[in-house]
Amino acid sequence: MKNVDYIIVGDGYAGLFFAHQLIKNNKSFVIFSEGKKSASQVSAGIINPVVLKKFTTFWKAQEQIDFLKISLKEIENYTGKNYLIEAPIHRIFHDENEQRLWLKKSENDELINFLDKNFDHLNVLKNDFQTGKVNQSARLNVNGFFSGLFDFLENRGDLIKEKFYYSELDTENSTYKDFTFKNILFCEGMAVKENPFFSDIPVIPNKGHHIKVKLSKQIPQNITIKKKHFLFPVNDELYFYGGTYDREQLHHNIDDSAVEQLKKGLEEFYPYDFEIDHVNFGFRPTVKDRRPIIGRHSKHQNLYVFNGLGARGILNGCYFSKNLYDFIEENIPLPKEISIERFK
Ligand SMILES: Cc1cc2nc3c(=O)[nH]c(=O)nc-3n(C[C@H](O)[C@H](O)[C@H](O)COP(=O)(O)OP(=O)(O)OC[C@H]3O[C@@H](n4cnc5c(N)ncnc54)[C@H](O)[C@@H]3O)c2cc1C
Repeated sequence: MKNVDYIIVGDGYAGLFFAHQLIKNNKSFVIFSEGKKSASQVSAGIINPVVLKKFTTFWKAQEQIDFLKISLKEIENYTGKNYLIEAPIHRIFHDENEQRLWLKKSENDELINFLDKNFDHLNVLKNDFQTGKVNQSARLNVNGFFSGLFDFLENRGDLIKEKFYYSELDTENSTYKDFTFKNILFCEGMAVKENPFFSDIPVIPNKGHHIKVKLSKQIPQNITIKKKHFLFPVNDELYFYGGTYDREQLHHNIDDSAVEQLKKGLEEFYPYDFEIDHVNFGFRPTVKDRRPIIGRHSKHQNLYVFNGLGARGILNGCYFSKNLYDFIEENIPLPKEISIERFK
C-alpha cells in the first residue's frame, strides 16, 4: 500500500491548481488522469477581469488576477517555464455607443484599473470604431501549462495515467486500489455526473468549440483580439479563434453550426482568406450563479469536490484552490458564495 495525503481525480484547471497548493505545502498526492483532452486543455487561456459584453467586472477580480500571477510565478519556479503571456485584450467596438459606454464605465472605481481610456486602431483588421484595451488582461499558454505540469508530476511519480473507478473506492477504510489516503478530491469537470458521491451538484454542460486557423495576412501579434470571440496566435503558423457557447447540442461530435458561427464571426473583422486547420470542443461545467461549487461530502468527511469552473476556469480554479486547501487543512470555513452548502 502506498500512503498519500491526497488523491485528486481529474487533471483540468481544478485538479492542477489544487495540486499546486499541495506542492507548496509539501503534501503527498497522486492525481488520476484518464488521458482525455479536458475542457481546460481546449480552453483559450484568457485571463480577463472584465465582462466584455456589458463592461462590468466581477467578484474579487483584482485579487484573483494578483493571486494567479503569483501562483504562475511559483509554478515557474519548480517547472522552469513561464506560462503567462502578456498580450492584453483589445475589444473591437461595434459602434460609438459602445465607445461612450466604455469611457463612462472606465470612471467607475471598480473598473478604473481595467478599462483603458485611450482607444487604439489595429492594422489589417476591420475596426472602424477602434478598440478598447483591458489593462491587466493576459493569456495562459495552455499547451505549455499542461505539458509543463504533466511532465513535472510524471517525473515525481504523482501522475497516474488511468481512469479512476468509483467502484474500487473503499470509503470506510480510505483506500483505492493500492493507495491509502487522508482525503480525496474530485475535480472531474462534467464527468462528475458519473460520480456516485457528487452527481447531484447543479452543474450544467455548456459545449464550446474553437477553431485553429491559418491566416493569409498577418495581424498584430502581441495582443488578444476580441469581437464576438477571441483571436490570437498560438504559434508561427496557427491562430486560435473561439469559443462558442451551446447548451442544446450536447453530442460528442463536432457541430457544423458552431464551426459556421466561428467562420462568420471571424469574417466580420478579418476580411481576408483563412483556412481552418482543425476544430476542437469541450464541455464547460457551468453553474447558474457563475461561481464554483466547492465542499465536503455530507456523509463521508474526507471526500471533497471542486467543480463548477465553467466561467473563468483559470482565475476561479487558481484562486479558490487556496480556500479549499485552507478549509480542509486549517478548518477555515469556505466563503458561502462558493460553498456546496448554498444548494442545500
Ligand atoms: C472552448 C472553450 C474555451 C474556454 N476558454 C476559457 C478561457 O479562455 N479562460 C478560462 O478561464 N476558461 C475557459 N474555458 C472554461 C474552462 O476551461 C473549463 O470550463 C474549466 O477549466 C473546467 O475545468 P475543470 O478542471 O473543472 O474540468 P475539466 O477541464 O473538464 O477537467 C476534468 C478532467 O478530469 C478528467 N476525469 C474526469 N473523470 C475522471 C476519472 N474518473 N478518472 C480520471 N480522470 C477523470 C477528465 O478527463 C478531464 O480531463 C473554456 C472552455 C471551453 C470549452
